Amino acid sequence: MKTPVLVVGGGPVGLGVAGDLGMRDVHCTLIEKTDGVVGQPKMDTVHARIMEFCRRWGIVPWVEAAGFNRDYSQDYAWVTALHNGYELGREPSPPCAKAPPLPQSPQHRERCPQTFFDPVMQRFARQFHQVTLHYHTELVTFEERPDRVLARVRNTQTGDEHVIEADYLVAADGSASSVREQLGIGMSGHNLLTNTTNVIFHSTELEKLITIPQAYRYIFIGPEEGTWATIVCIDGRDNWRFSFVGDRNRLELGEPELREFIERAVGCKFKFEINSVLRWTRRELVADRYGTDRVFLVGDSAHQLSPTGGFGMTTGLQEAVDIGWKLAAVVKGWGGASLLKSYEAERQPVAARNVREAHNNLLRMLTPRRQKPLKLILEPGPRGDAARKAYGDAYTEMMKPEWHALGVTMGYRYDGSPIVVGDGTLAPIFNIDYVQSTLPGGRAPHVWLDEAKTKSTLDLYGKGFVLVRLARDSSEAVPNVDALVAAAGERGVPLEVVDLVHAEARALYARQLVLVRPDGHVAWRSDEAPEDALALIDTVRGAGVMQ
Ligand SMILES: Cc1cc2nc3c(=O)[nH]c(=O)nc-3n(C[C@H](O)[C@H](O)[C@H](O)COP(=O)(O)OP(=O)(O)OC[C@H]3O[C@@H](n4cnc5c(N)ncnc54)[C@H](O)[C@@H]3O)c2cc1C
Repeated sequence: MKTPVLVVGGGPVGLGVAGDLGMRDVHCTLIEKTDGVVGQPKMDTVHARIMEFCRRWGIVPWVEAAGFNRDYSQDYAWVTALHNGYELGREPSPPCAKAPPLPQSPQHRERCPQTFFDPVMQRFARQFHQVTLHYHTELVTFEERPDRVLARVRNTQTGDEHVIEADYLVAADGSASSVREQLGIGMSGHNLLTNTTNVIFHSTELEKLITIPQAYRYIFIGPEEGTWATIVCIDGRDNWRFSFVGDRNRLELGEPELREFIERAVGCKFKFEINSVLRWTRRELVADRYGTDRVFLVGDSAHQLSPTGGFGMTTGLQEAVDIGWKLAAVVKGWGGASLLKSYEAERQPVAARNVREAHNNLLRMLTPRRQKPLKLILEPGPRGDAARKAYGDAYTEMMKPEWHALGVTMGYRYDGSPIVVGDGTLAPIFNIDYVQSTLPGGRAPHVWLDEAKTKSTLDLYGKGFVLVRLARDSSEAVPNVDALVAAAGERGVPLEVVDLVHAEARALYARQLVLVRPDGHVAWRSDEAPEDALALIDTVRGAGVMQ
């Protein structure tokens, strides 16, 4: 069997790579060793930047209708117990159904746990005839040769083995990646932040027992141990996830003890059934290399981080989108010899930042562990009220970077990338704030193009390169780009020129010419056509460096 691209792993990131390639008319084969049914939903937050990818992929309505109750509260609250406990503070956030798009985006964050999101991604990948999905199929081993990759795969139901010959292999095989291991690529960072036990349980009774205002995520603060657990309503209905942040010796808690802890968090005995238990180790790791000439790591195989902030799949799907267009360019013949090398140069620094910020969020969440004892927060009366307010206000303020992290999830930039042409402008990257700009390497900004707010500048991007040529109004002259169009044609690079006569876009885009890559990032900008158009095209397609 032959395929241009073999994707190993059918989690959200592998499916993202496969679907993105299918959308670009590139044939690929995805193998997944399980049946693809998610038992334990890990992720639940789909950040606005990922919803922008979903918009590009045409699947926003599928995510919205996937199954989460979009009228459910999205507040975060810090509490002592759900039933007759105390609320210490909260961060309000509108339910998904009522949330307006962000000022910087045509989208907003969605809640879509993996039990719902993975099937959406499967449907997305499956709709392309170029994509073949094989479930119950495991990668056993592979051999990388100068001109191809030979992968030995096994059908996990029959035990039959065969070889798939691929031009490229994408390893989306999760944190225990056997591809990474076979390549001998190490990971740097912290191998153990906490041991955590996740319990998915079902209860139709719990919602009615909660005496504090509804929230999506409850963080439990105890007088002895400080922050000790969280509960989220995983589907916005009657399925819940309890996470117990334990120490190493608590990893092996049995079901009776876990039931006691859940009842302690809720504050009373109630009816519930445990559906699954996942014991996992929180880490802060980034792969030392992002692959080789023909094999590339994406998603959890390339980085592992604390879920605090919801940056895991976010980082992985950003990688999927980065490698997707580059593989497509190389398979189709217009990508240069060093285009694929830019994957590591662009993505590894972003992962390093994201794992660090996720760890910082964890440290903030666990801060009360170091502030114990907190006995006063359980004392009824004015002294307790004052202690709760003081504690809650401080915690609410401290936790804001986790809830407001647009700088992390949207503001990432590929500074120093060999395929991005900088213009000498220096600007810091923040974690919380994200100010849209056309700084080369960053996400091209969103501007609504119609009064009804249905069409965004982002809808212009996603397939080939787009050269946006902007004018304030019809009186403003625009540069001639014929040479650039000719250069792209000479190299076979798909390039569309889009003329925008739009005062707001003109001001925000800050230059009259902005070249946007197939992944929606700015490759180059100027008020004048480039002196050497061919050199510019060669640089952005990974075939040379512009002087
Ligand atoms: C509690 C928790 C909450 C989280 N919340 C969020 C969140 O809100 N937002 C967010 O963005 N991220 C979140 N994350 C992180 C997110 O879940 C992961 O980053 C994401 O699932 C990684 O996707 P992946 O496709 O890279 O890997 P995985 O989802 O691990 O998928 C890897 C796939 O590869 C398959 N596989 C492995 N080896 C082979 C082989 N040899 N052959 C074939 N198939 C193979 C596996 O069966 C698996 O299906 C959370 C994580 C946890 C633990």
